[in-house]
Amino acid sequence: MNFNDPNRILFVMEEIERIIKIQSDADDVLDQILKKMLEFFSCDRAWLFYPCNPDLPTFEVVYERTTPLFPGAKALNTTVPMTRDMAEYCNRALSNSGCPEIDPRPGQKMSNDIALKFNVKSLIFMALNPQNDDAWMFGMHHCEINHHWNNNERYLFKIIGLRITKLIENLIFIKQITESEKKYRKLFETVSDAIYLISGKGKIIDANQGACVCLGRTKEEILDLYIDDVDQNFSVEEILSFWDKVPFNTSKKFESIHKTKNNDLISVEVIGQKFRFKNATCYYVVAKDITERQKAEKFLKESEERFRNLMENVDAVAVQGYGLDGTTQYWNKASERLYGYTRQEAIGRSLLDLIIPPEMRPVVAEEMRKMAGSGRPIPSGELLLMHKDGSQVPVISHHVIVEVPGRARELFCLDIDISERKQAETTLRQSEEKFRTLVNTAPFGIQLTDLEGKIVYSNPAHHHIQGYEPDQLIGMYLWDLTADDGHRTEIREYYQNIISKKPEPTLYFTREKTRDDREIDVQINWDYIRNEKDEVTGIISIIEDISERKQADAEREKLQKQLNQAQKMEAVGRLAGGVAHDFNNMLGVILGYVELAFEKIDPDQELYADFEEIQKAAERSADLTKQLLTFARKQVIAPEVLDLNDAVDSMLKMLRRLIGENIELLWLPADELWPVKIDPSQINQILANLCVNARDAIAGVGKLTIETQMKTFDQIYCAGHPGFITGDYVMLAVTDNGCGMNKEMLNNLFEPFFTTKNVGEGTGLGLAIIYGIVKQNNGFVNVYSEPGQGTSFKIYLPRFHPSEDAQEEALPEKSVPTGNETVLLVEDEPAILRMTKMMLERKGYSVLPAATPADAINIVNAYIGKIHLLMTDVIMPEMNGRDLAEKVKAVFPEIKLLFMSGYAANVVTNQGVLDEGVAFMQKPFSTNELAKKIREVLDESHA
Ligand code: ADP
Ligand code: MG
Repeated sequence: MNFNDPNRILFVMEEIERIIKIQSDADDVLDQILKKMLEFFSCDRAWLFYPCNPDLPTFEVVYERTTPLFPGAKALNTTVPMTRDMAEYCNRALSNSGCPEIDPRPGQKMSNDIALKFNVKSLIFMALNPQNDDAWMFGMHHCEINHHWNNNERYLFKIIGLRITKLIENLIFIKQITESEKKYRKLFETVSDAIYLISGKGKIIDANQGACVCLGRTKEEILDLYIDDVDQNFSVEEILSFWDKVPFNTSKKFESIHKTKNNDLISVEVIGQKFRFKNATCYYVVAKDITERQKAEKFLKESEERFRNLMENVDAVAVQGYGLDGTTQYWNKASERLYGYTRQEAIGRSLLDLIIPPEMRPVVAEEMRKMAGSGRPIPSGELLLMHKDGSQVPVISHHVIVEVPGRARELFCLDIDISERKQAETTLRQSEEKFRTLVNTAPFGIQLTDLEGKIVYSNPAHHHIQGYEPDQLIGMYLWDLTADDGHRTEIREYYQNIISKKPEPTLYFTREKTRDDREIDVQINWDYIRNEKDEVTGIISIIEDISERKQADAEREKLQKQLNQAQKMEAVGRLAGGVAHDFNNMLGVILGYVELAFEKIDPDQELYADFEEIQKAAERSADLTKQLLTFARKQVIAPEVLDLNDAVDSMLKMLRRLIGENIELLWLPADELWPVKIDPSQINQILANLCVNARDAIAGVGKLTIETQMKTFDQIYCAGHPGFITGDYVMLAVTDNGCGMNKEMLNNLFEPFFTTKNVGEGTGLGLAIIYGIVKQNNGFVNVYSEPGQGTSFKIYLPRFHPSEDAQEEALPEKSVPTGNETVLLVEDEPAILRMTKMMLERKGYSVLPAATPADAINIVNAYIGKIHLLMTDVIMPEMNGRDLAEKVKAVFPEIKLLFMSGYAANVVTNQGVLDEGVAFMQKPFSTNELAKKIREVLDESHA
């Protein structure tokens, strides 16, 4: 084709534009253009290769059209090496952009390898530089002729090259778009989230596989829907008006509910964007199913709630959270209770200021520093922390460091209050201490033995009893301590029997030998030691050395016997005394008459010697009677002036022994007691009898009080208290808290032989004797007792006035046997009355005899002259001598008195108690004795 005509060029260009227009595929366009090139330029080959890069080893012919005779590299399907010539072409093409180079020059031949291989005779080429790709090379070959390219051809070639550059740009662009579209489509399809493309009217215009899965619909079904068919929360209007306010290409995120084909509701998180597509507004929406996430969130929230509740309300554990610097961040209710701070007070304050006692603060601060460095919590353990009020709070504290992503680490303390346990421990310790002290100080031995009978523990009292050093008893066998080697087997068998048969514990008595070879009597009170399974693991024994007690018991028995004997002797004495009294009177009569007979008969007479024998025998009998009477009194009493307190003091030891150890003896002496005059042995007798009675009245344990006091009774007092006599008295009281007595017993109490005790236990004489003693000493006894209320015996002994003793001085012996005074003689025994009358008359006295006190009183009342002397028996049936004397004295105040009795001066009777200092004669007496005494009395001047 000749291109000298510009229309031809236009024609070619039009042709090319037409190809571009009708062909939709860019590859086809390029192929058609190259095909047209062969036509337009009558050449053999037109091509495009890529890349036009001289630095690469090869290039590829991408498009090619040839005449049938000259197929090119594409047709031959070869990759062409970048030879030096080709590289030079590339360089030339690239450096000459916009202007194609043509080669060979007219007349030159193509001699390079490629030219030869592909029969290239003439070549035209240019580099194409698309904006979106590396450079391409565009060229044409003539293979039969050395064609020379003229300017028009070159011009046309160049503008076609430029046009192809544009096409390549498009091609590349489309390729890139397609690829990217493919990529996004793939993404679109493979993402599990549902993606919807929505039109400006709210219609779903595209949806991915994820949407199909999510809604359970096919894509076709989805593409029939509007967005509010899916979204349950919003209508199309709402959605559109929402997006209306959102700028283009700005993402928005919100949550909503989508509905599946089965009407299931799915929670979704939606991310959407508004964008323009082909001039229309569209939306894409990515919906993520967050049902699971929500479920997980809900679960997490619930579980969190649960744990928070648990922590908050757990009663027994005080939970606190602290920052690693010690700042309080969490404080549960139990902490409020345990430490006294409310949550508000605690939060924000330092652990150190709240619950750590001042002295612990430096240590805890140091531990906290360590913890912050190492990340390991403060060691857990038992701590003594502090309450708000400053009191101690013993706790077991567990510590953990809690790490939550995105938060600072926290120290959590879980404190359990152990004050109760501590208290229990203290109580236990104290009680243990108490028992230890008890055991160590117990006055009795405590010994623990194991099942074998080996001593495993012995308290101080025990090894003291046994005379051992503390540890020497440990390991010994129980039976090693026995006093009698013959007993060892018996004790061992007893012990083994206890262990195997487990009988009820009983008292056990045995004799043991101490380390220093003394023998002791012990009482063993034993019981089983059991473990928590109630199995017997040993025996505990309480050991008492009862040697002394046994001895005391024996002694008491002896004393009791002695006392009983004394009482018996006393009674026999009374009997004998009673008989002797009468017998004595008879002897008196015999002797009297013998004396009278002597005066009547001559000593030379045979009868005289007989009377002498009678007199001797009677005198011997009188001696015997005197002995009998002495025996009846046991001994002539010897009154002394004494302090009753001293007398009691000296008795206490014996009395204690007498009453035994179950009865407590209380001794309450009065200060500065008045003296009394009494035979000390009588005090002993009184006390012994009263104490023994008190002991017998007490069953088991009791109390006995001995007391002394000073008492003065005046007339008025005595008037109100029958039995009391005016004057100063020393009182001796013996009071017990025993069984007491009823009225009837009280009435008979002092009667001889009155007893409520068994034969052999009581004689019924104790109180009778006391009564006698007291009367004898011008005192009196008062008893107060009620059944069950105990008994109090009060003995009143008259105060001794020192002047009394002076009267007792013996009168100087006078030998005045006769007199002429008038004597009133009172004697209930007629024989004695007659005989004594005779004796008196023989000595010159006038005698007024009276057989009874009544007779005497009659005589006194009737007698006109003076009666100088009253001589009377003491003991008479109607009235005693003293009372009679009072009566007689009423009439004859001046009358002298002489008492006579078979008893000694201090006779023990109810009636015949004489005032001290009165004149007294013990029967029987001789005429001379009588004469002497009578003179004494009559001559005595009145004091
Ligand atoms: P005995 O003691 O030998 O029985 P007593 O003359 O000493 O004789 O006592 C007589 C009785 O008086 C006793 O048997 C007893 O019944 C009673 N009796 C004596 N003293 C007390 C007393 N302190 N408490 C109770 N009863 C007593
Ligand atoms: Mg008695």
